[in-house]
Amino acid sequence: MHCPFCGHPETKVNDSRLAGEGRQVRRRRECLACGERFNTFEAAELLMPVVVKTDRAREPFDEGKVRAGMERALQKRPVSREQIDEALSRIVHKVRVLGDREISARTVGELVMEELQHLDEVGYVRFASVYRHFEDVEAFHDEIRRLRDARQAAHAAGRTHKRSAARAANREQLPLLPDSEADAPGSPAPSAGPAAGKSGGKPDG
Ligand SMILES: [Zn+2]
Repeated sequence: MHCPFCGHPETKVNDSRLAGEGRQVRRRRECLACGERFNTFEAAELLMPVVVKTDRAREPFDEGKVRAGMERALQKRPVSREQIDEALSRIVHKVRVLGDREISARTVGELVMEELQHLDEVGYVRFASVYRHFEDVEAFHDEIRRLRDARQAAHAAGRTHKRSAARAANREQLPLLPDSEADAPGSPAPSAGPAAGKSGGKPDG
């Protein structure tokens, strides 16, 4: 850039460092003509898309609104503020990466559900039941079943050191779900019995 003091087109950079928690670069510059020094800040220009609602109305993407929806779903759940912040920044990042000028409210909702699914099952079901307007109890149960199957598959795949912690977390969440689901005979009971050593193992030929 031109020197802001004398307008000379050439300046040199004496120092360059991160600022604004890494979101900016600050450069210390010196004019080659008059010798004046000044700082410049460089930051990414990020434009968030406009959200298109179901009635076709447009509104600016509102991070606070997304957070409020997540917090409502996670009320009194064992999810920390920090976890919500992290999930929110992943959502914002995904929205940015899409790079579109408009995004449907539906897509934003799906991104939120994706995060909630990992954070907390109860929060996920709460959000999904409002968001997807489950038409009847059956649809609601289908979703819970689907969720449980997906989680069991994930556990079977990653049955390692984190296993007992995951189980403890599950035990905490199960009683909050409908009884019929919590008692599902198919769920791998956290048993310490003799079968425990073999559980999840597959005969590999
Ligand atoms: Zn100058």
